[in-house]
Amino acid sequence: MTISESSTKQPVVCVFCGASSGKSPVHLESARALARILHDNGIKLVYGGGTVGLMGEVARTLVSLSGPDSVHGIIPQPLVKFEQNHDPNDPNAHTIDESIFGKTTIVKDMHTRKQMMAREVIEGGPGGGFVALSGGYGTMEELMEITTWNQLGIHNMPVIVYNVNGYWDGLLAWVTNAVESGFIGENNAGIVSEAKTAEDVLNCLKTYKNAEGRFNLTWEEQ
Ligand code: AMP
Repeated sequence: MTISESSTKQPVVCVFCGASSGKSPVHLESARALARILHDNGIKLVYGGGTVGLMGEVARTLVSLSGPDSVHGIIPQPLVKFEQNHDPNDPNAHTIDESIFGKTTIVKDMHTRKQMMAREVIEGGPGGGFVALSGGYGTMEELMEITTWNQLGIHNMPVIVYNVNGYWDGLLAWVTNAVESGFIGENNAGIVSEAKTAEDVLNCLKTYKNAEGRFNLTWEEQ
């Protein structure tokens, strides 16, 4: 489904971010700032469903402001025991308090999660998109996959890196070099937008214009 086919009930932002909090408090602060801007603008959140690290912080903060219906976490079954707080007296019991973290859906694998998250953003319509806060390999993998889905025309929603204290400078420099070196086309150079503050994130969500010339693949063809 493309944006033109989707309903525009309430925009949805998908946040990719670390299962860790990082060493500097600026990363947790940026997670909270992002949640506040989503709340102020009536934007819903879909995220990886964890209760730990930056993931837990952005979900917890938004639920505290906008309520549990504003957040949907989608977590693959094998990750539940690592990324959701569980009862230390019963290592097999993993529960999430939906009044704190929002609705949670457990899915079979990573790909199902990513497809579901992307569909919610697309169906939310204009004003939504994908935002990467600071994170590690998992965040990078999710960010790059959703960027390639834009390049392929599977979606046409904005992809934004929230570049806290230059955290994503290396990635942005790599994109510039890849364009200059001829490995990323000029028309794809702007798929990933940079935001330095939560307000910048909102601005990128509102002003993003998709470039022409995508393949317009469907889910089935990926
Ligand atoms: P990280 O940025 O490494 O802290 O990971 C952030 C989140 O990305 C993790 O909590 C996982 O839910 C998710 N993740 C980790 N590895 C992958 C992967 N190979 N594909 C998709 N998502 C992943």
